[in-house]
Amino acid sequence: MAVRQIREIGDNLLRKKSRPFETVDDKARQLLEDLYDTLKVTKDGVGLAAPQVGVLRRAIVVDLSMEEENPQGPFFLINPVIVKQSGSQVCREGCLSVPGKLGDVTRPEKVTVEALDKNGKKVKIKAEGLLAVVLSHEIDHLDGILFVDKATEIFDQDELQEEER
Ligand SMILES: [Zn+2]
Repeated sequence: MAVRQIREIGDNLLRKKSRPFETVDDKARQLLEDLYDTLKVTKDGVGLAAPQVGVLRRAIVVDLSMEEENPQGPFFLINPVIVKQSGSQVCREGCLSVPGKLGDVTRPEKVTVEALDKNGKKVKIKAEGLLAVVLSHEIDHLDGILFVDKATEIFDQDELQEEER
């Protein structure tokens, strides 16, 4: 168990492509655990990808178990791939590696993701809505893509809160 430091935009490592795992071994499991521990200490994070903690391997954790409407997860995924996608939706996203910013990003409405779980077993997740957004956001990280690359508009979180008051 370890909480790792989260890399932030400007760090070159976040722009690199991550390598797949050949097998799900203890090292892969440890990485998933560390991602989960690191995610849990953040205030409102719902997903984290390995490059965000400085590891260029294809591993992500997604946790929507705290959502009121449709709790799902946590998902611990190795080598996740979007094998099918359909529709589109615009979501206001943030990222633990881009603190203080939010942006409107167009994502697929539905995605089917194939991956390996902690035990190296093949899993297939049919996701829609928020889960589809988060999976596609985290998988982008594995290819060095950040939400700000895709956002049509980017906002300062502080300014948005100001307006809501
Ligand atoms: Zn992110």
